[in-house]
Amino acid sequence: MIDVMEIVMSIEVKTTRKCSYCKDKIILETGNFVIYKDNVYYHYDCFISFMNSKKRNKLSQDEIMDMIKESKEKNSDKVKYIIDKNHFERYLQRRYDIPCLPKSIYTRLEQIFNGTYKNLSEPISPSDLFDMWKRKEDYLEKTNQWKIDKGEGISDGIARFFYDLAILLTKLDSYKKWKMSQEINVRTKQNIIEENKSKIDYTKMYNNNKEKINIENILEEI
Ligand SMILES: [Zn+2]
Repeated sequence: MIDVMEIVMSIEVKTTRKCSYCKDKIILETGNFVIYKDNVYYHYDCFISFMNSKKRNKLSQDEIMDMIKESKEKNSDKVKYIIDKNHFERYLQRRYDIPCLPKSIYTRLEQIFNGTYKNLSEPISPSDLFDMWKRKEDYLEKTNQWKIDKGEGISDGIARFFYDLAILLTKLDSYKKWKMSQEINVRTKQNIIEENKSKIDYTKMYNNNKEKINIENILEEI
């Protein structure tokens, strides 16, 4: 199923950096057109122009292509992390109506992403925390409604963020278990598909042979 929110997010949220060569903006979401190397960003074409413009240690086109391939393999996780983190932060701004996230939120998120926050046994990636947050939106709303009914509702966006985060962290273990079971399900489904494919092929072969034999028999009978 297509997640409409996901599409809206991808249209709205753009993660930009400055190209080290042309000094113009690069949109990281354009994936293959972004080269991230030695902590700076280049447009794909700009990187090639930059390498070709070198007076010394000039590389061949093949060597430049190898270099692009290598930097993609090495840095794609890091670029994904930056994009996911940006999408998540923009979501938090909208959801909690905080136009500019304060340092206290950035610091707490950083501690969670690098796993140094108290009681965390391992880092949580921005994409996992984001996923968890979206899945638990209704639950978080209900919890706050329950507090409002008791006269303890939180109206301040920043305070509400920290409150919701604390709730989500208590659900972390069950989220991890759920996610693992989803991954196992996907793998099991893939295995069944693979198994069926080989079964079908086998049956086809068998039928073809049988048919051949039958035809031979009929021919002989004639
Ligand atoms: Zn450029």
